[in-house]
Formats: sequence, C-alpha cells, structure tokens
Amino acid sequence: MVALPLGNCILVRSHSRTIAVTATFSTLPGYTLLDMHAARQRNIKPGSPSQDRKVAGNGSEQFFVAGWQSWHRYKNRRACPGEAYEPTEVEHVANIFTHAISIVPALCGTAYLVSLSRSSAQTLAAIVYGLSLVALFGMSTAFHCSCYYACESKTKFRLHICDRATIFIFIGCSYTPWLLLRETEPVYAGFLTLTVLWLMVAGGILYQLKYHEKNKHLETLIYLFIGLTPAAAIIPSMLDHRSLWNLAQGGAVYVVGLVFFKCDGIVPFAHAIWHLFVVLGASIQYFAVVHHLYPSEASTS
Ligand SMILES: [Zn+2]
Repeated sequence: MVALPLGNCILVRSHSRTIAVTATFSTLPGYTLLDMHAARQRNIKPGSPSQDRKVAGNGSEQFFVAGWQSWHRYKNRRACPGEAYEPTEVEHVANIFTHAISIVPALCGTAYLVSLSRSSAQTLAAIVYGLSLVALFGMSTAFHCSCYYACESKTKFRLHICDRATIFIFIGCSYTPWLLLRETEPVYAGFLTLTVLWLMVAGGILYQLKYHEKNKHLETLIYLFIGLTPAAAIIPSMLDHRSLWNLAQGGAVYVVGLVFFKCDGIVPFAHAIWHLFVVLGASIQYFAVVHHLYPSEASTS
C-alpha cells in the first residue's frame, strides 16, 4: 500500500487518533486526510511504502499509510462551499479533450445543414443552430485550456463567464429551428415562444454577468428552467409532433448529465463525463433536426 496524494492532501490512517478530518472523508471510518504541510511535519511522504511508522518528533503517535482504491488518485478532494474544484492533471486533460473533439464535427454539421437548406428560414436556422454548437464546444475548450495552463485569473474568470453564457445561448439556439420551421396553432405561438425564450436567455446571461458562481444550485435551476419550459409551451401548440420525442430524449440526456456536473470531487472525471452527456444530448438533437426539419439529401439532389 502507498500514500496517495489527493490534491494538497494525502490519505492516511491513524492507529491512535484522528489527525485532521475533513468533511469529505469524515465518513470513512478510521481514515483521514492529512494536508501536505502536516504530512511533512510528520515525515509522511506520498508514494512511500506502507508500514507502521513512528512519527518523527512524536513517538506517541503511530500512523500507517492507507491504501485506497486506485481510481481515487484521478480526482481531488471536493471543493468547500464558495471554492472552485481543482481538477487533477488527468481530469484537466479529459475536460479539454471531451469537448475539443466535437468542434470540427460541429462545424461540418453546420455546413451540412446549410447545404440541405431550401429556404431562407432553413438557412438562418442552420447557421444559428450550427454555430451555437461550435461556440458551445469551442468556448468550453478555451475555458478548460485556460484552467490547465493556469492562465491569469482574470482571463480564466472571463472565459468561465463566457462558457456559462454560451450554455444559455445554446439552449436558445437548440429550440430556434423547431420554433422557426415547424407550424404552430395559433400561428403566432411559435414566434411568441421564441421571443419569450430569448428573453429568458438574455436574463440568464445577465444573471451570469452579475452573480457568476455566487449560488451554484440556483444557477443549475435556472439552466433547467430555461431548458425545459419552452418544451412545455411548444408541445401543445405544434401541429406536427413527430420527432419531438427525439428533442425530449436529448433533453433527458442533459438532465441526467447534470448529476455528474454536480459530482466534482466525488466521482473521478465527473466534469468530463458531464461533457460526454452534453455531446450525446447535442448529437441526438442534431440528428432530429436533420431528419425532421430539413429535406433529405435524396430529395434535394
Ligand atoms: Zn466544462
């Protein structure tokens, strides 16, 4: 067994008494987190072979270094309230990679939708929706790169706000093709929902600018509210209900993914897993747009 570094801490087990319990690990009987400073003072090194050892300078305490499931080395401790979670090196790379790989497909998807367009409304919807996908993955990649390369905190802060604001814009753009291209009863219902939706998006962005990260739970609830309420409005008014099921499936994938969005420091790679849910949800909704709002390739050639 070896001592495992967990961010600024290592996990150890004390024979005699608890050394320094943190809220995150206090539920593990007999185990505790020791911060690096305290560990150095007690001459316990991460990666050192496990053995009962007399602690230097204090013969009355005995520690042995705890082994821990190997996957725990891939995550850091959970952030305290008001603190940002600090991903491990591999988590940083996974966060960048999981969205960076989607930028080029999003660009190709935009070009493909434009090529299928046969009306100015379809072209407009293709550009708005396609570019929102590119912006979502691009902004997320830029933000996570700034975290990995430890950019100046101001740059990181601005990119984080842009990343979060882009999610609001993406929600608005995801509904836009449906509200623009599908007939509704009454006719103005689509435009009315579109207007209210974009007002909510603007409100969400203003909230981000003013209260960024002040209340993370409220932020998540706002995303859910703006993401789900337009669906409740369009289902009764849309004449053609085909494929709305795909729209709902994509939405459900985002909602399930939110569980991981909230699991930083509990599940290793939680944020990267959330990214993968976003990619999956976006893909389901993209193919629904292609198949149900645009003419097929065969019919356009
Ligand atoms: Zn992210």
